Amino acid sequence: MDTIRLSKSRISWKEIAAVVRVLRTGYLGMGKEVFLFEKELEKFFGRSVLCVNTGTSALQLSCQAIGLQSGDEVLVQSLTYVANYQAIAATGANPISCDINPETLGIDLDDAKSKLTDKTKAIMPVLIAGNPKGLNEVYKFAKENSLRIIEDASHAFGSKYKGRLVGSSGDITCISLDGIKNITSGEGGIIISDDQKIIESIRDLRLLGVKKDSEKRYAGKRSIDFDVVDQGWRYHMSDIMAAIGRVQLGKLPKLKNRRQLIARYYQNNIKLEYLLNPKLNFSQIVPHVFIIKMNSHEQRERLKTVFKKHSVEFGCHYKPNHLLTKFNDPELDYSELSNTMDHYLRAITIPLHPGLKISETKKIIQIINEI
Ligand SMILES: *Cc1c(COP(=O)(O)O)cnc(C)c1O
Repeated sequence: MDTIRLSKSRISWKEIAAVVRVLRTGYLGMGKEVFLFEKELEKFFGRSVLCVNTGTSALQLSCQAIGLQSGDEVLVQSLTYVANYQAIAATGANPISCDINPETLGIDLDDAKSKLTDKTKAIMPVLIAGNPKGLNEVYKFAKENSLRIIEDASHAFGSKYKGRLVGSSGDITCISLDGIKNITSGEGGIIISDDQKIIESIRDLRLLGVKKDSEKRYAGKRSIDFDVVDQGWRYHMSDIMAAIGRVQLGKLPKLKNRRQLIARYYQNNIKLEYLLNPKLNFSQIVPHVFIIKMNSHEQRERLKTVFKKHSVEFGCHYKPNHLLTKFNDPELDYSELSNTMDHYLRAITIPLHPGLKISETKKIIQIINEI
């Protein structure tokens, strides 16, 4: 029995040829290819874009660039990838665990409000499964409370919100381009913003804080006589990665259609009671994952057993971060994170990637509906 994969990158001879082309130039680091990828992404989003080596470093550099420091606080949903928490913590700031709205899986603003203090500097909304619903309310909340916003749109490359591309407006948007995301550059991440101070700062921070090093590297050169003022990192993207990313960006229409088609198929055929939000509009959303919620924890565990028997992979988005030793404050009881815990115990992520066959989807749907 062939395993039905949870997620998978879709690579063809085009990406392979692009990588070979870069390898043949003999220059593998950050150079012209990254420059061109950034230009193409800037055209796509209509704003400034910087490429880095992972989505996590995109988040970390954004946290550093807005000036987060030891003791500052950032409001973030506990139900997210540990990347968000580590990125915040890397600046010395504390991620403050908030509950989710059970339908959108976005941050619950009532809970966020109750956790505001004079140390709160930012809010980090995560567009779980590519769904941007509620983002306007996050912006309103942030404005009223003078907070910066770092959007994690790693699940949402290509998604639209009220007719506009996610990342084409707002404060700072970070997107991961790792191997299984809507588009990939192997590993990789991008930062999108109109704030030129942020962009200029991250441009240097990704290259060890060396001032104006990016321009030299785009031209195939390196800085010899330079100055450094801030803590920087080696977080830049390589030309090999950018070559893959450029091909993938060109394929977005196809990759996007395929994800949307499969998601609609699930939406139309999985029993309604298991759909988190039967009204999700998959002509606007490009879903990175498809999450369903069973009636009980026991039922979810039974589904896992049957999936295993039939070699169907499944996932968990996500283990709540407040349960992790590093981010669990023993002084707190976290009882207010009830939607988060209910989701964690009953939800399951089912396979979704552009290479998934309709026959495989049918099998998955049949298993779920029988349960
Ligand atoms: C993938 C992902 C990240 C991290 O991206 P990497 O490129 O893997 O570092 C961050 N947040 C979310 C929601 C993600 O899905």
